[in-house]
Amino acid sequence: MLAEFIHHPRIAYFSMEIALRNEIHTYSGGLGVLAGDTLCTAADLELPMVAVTLMSRQGYFRQRIDAHGRQSEEPDPWNPQQWLQPLDAKVALTISGRQVWIAAWLYVLQGSMGGRQPVILLDTDLPENAREDRRITDYLYGGDAAYRLKQEMVLGMGGVRMLQALDFKVQHYHMNEGHSAMLAVELLQRYAYPPEDLRPGESPYNVPRVRDMCSFTTHTPVESGHDRFGYDLVQQVADELLELGALKHLAGEDALNMTRLALNLSEYVNGVAKRHAELSRQMYPGYRVHAVTNGVHPFNWTCEAFRRLYDAQLTGWCHEPELLMRADYCLWDDAVWEAHAVARQALIGCVRERSGKELNADWPIIGFARRMTEYKRPDLLFTDLDRLRAIAREQPFQVVLAGKAHPHDSRGKQQIENLHAYARDLADVLPVVFLSDYDMDLARRLVSGADIWLNTPQHPLEASGTSGMKAAFNGVPSLSVLDGWWLEGCIEGVTGWAVGNGSQGDSSLDAASLYHKLEAVVLPLYRTDRSGWIAVMKGAIARNASYFNSHRMMRRYATEAYIH
Ligand SMILES: *Cc1c(COP(=O)(O)O)cnc(C)c1O
Repeated sequence: MLAEFIHHPRIAYFSMEIALRNEIHTYSGGLGVLAGDTLCTAADLELPMVAVTLMSRQGYFRQRIDAHGRQSEEPDPWNPQQWLQPLDAKVALTISGRQVWIAAWLYVLQGSMGGRQPVILLDTDLPENAREDRRITDYLYGGDAAYRLKQEMVLGMGGVRMLQALDFKVQHYHMNEGHSAMLAVELLQRYAYPPEDLRPGESPYNVPRVRDMCSFTTHTPVESGHDRFGYDLVQQVADELLELGALKHLAGEDALNMTRLALNLSEYVNGVAKRHAELSRQMYPGYRVHAVTNGVHPFNWTCEAFRRLYDAQLTGWCHEPELLMRADYCLWDDAVWEAHAVARQALIGCVRERSGKELNADWPIIGFARRMTEYKRPDLLFTDLDRLRAIAREQPFQVVLAGKAHPHDSRGKQQIENLHAYARDLADVLPVVFLSDYDMDLARRLVSGADIWLNTPQHPLEASGTSGMKAAFNGVPSLSVLDGWWLEGCIEGVTGWAVGNGSQGDSSLDAASLYHKLEAVVLPLYRTDRSGWIAVMKGAIARNASYFNSHRMMRRYATEAYIH
């Protein structure tokens, strides 16, 4: 089963979450979706990789929302037997003094052009493990710090051991976010100098050798996105780590900081957009942080109607999305509008089905869907309800929202509740619909069926953001705060529109700018100038989809990170 994958050396790509397909609940949001797009592109470009992640048998969570807009969470199990093949190998780790056995499952990811990539999912739910340990690979981002540390040991250390047990030849390791940095600890141990070669007091660890084998992508400047474990906890849980002094030297004196560990053990480090790389250099002085701006997978994120259009007019776009830069000259206006109308109708149908609400077929649809958390500011649009009402009375539009808040993120949950209150308040003039259980299928509907893709994060906290790139593949322009990828993607009035001026995000100024843009620029263009609007749709495709795609991103990883 593995034979086709193990004769050539591969790049091992480790990620706590990977979105493999909607039915496999091993992802929560942007990070996992990016990992999935990365692997699909590797399949399309025939870059030999092998991915490692956890089983997450109980998923992230299923989102329930009651009549008041209060979120509650339920387990979101899926059926491994339906999608994966169990493998024979088992490896063990000592965690909290007990031996924990890890099994592996294989998922074969199919690219859109016939290529295949193996994905190894690690599983501790084995009868030989203690009850508690069987749960380690159950919940994505669930549990407490100890649970997370155990998961990261299974992912990083267990993953390296598993690849070896399965006979993979690994030529390079890529840590997708700090969660997987334990893999470098495992490599330090594997390549340690034998004691007889050491002079007294000399460290056994060959840091340069391990650094040479590793790359690290950091994904967020937000503090809570960087795992830190107290050394008390580390000593209780992690029996097999490095000697404490050496570990502190690499991972931080006060706490085991996974980001620092990854930075110190990777020769190639990058942020996920130019501004994010710059910010990361400020956060971690002394490290060389490259910028590889994220991209999304061309085929996965383009709706059926636009795929057909591109296939007909821009043959080869799936392999070389650069061809899309010709969109403004090679696609007919009517054809673009027709393709969008199909996607829009599908979204209207999806809203009807999921919420019972009927959107107005003639009013523009503003889409906003992402993780519900404070810095994403889903409520910015609703800062001044009277102003919003006045705009909507003159130039009617409608809003579709979606997003999950992490179970421990009480402010994120509060935001969801607030959004429901605003929707009730505005019901007489402005339809606002919140769809529960945001996932990839819903994302596909939204980024293609909306007319305007709204993005209002707190500057400078959005490292990249990718949903606006997905929208671009479907000819949907962004209306976005100048942060993350939009600093690179925005050409005012050509690919979409900026909110604010890209300086320190004052929410009331950003809201004023958002209202002004909507009222004076975006809504009038939509209402009164069809060909002007289609020109912006084409601008999004030609200038942004042609560039912000995972094929460009992977060609950069392949030539700069994996070979150096
Ligand atoms: C693309 C995607 C995201 C990330 O969107 P951002 O704009 O980066 O916040 C999150 N969740 C799902 C399901 C997605 O498809």
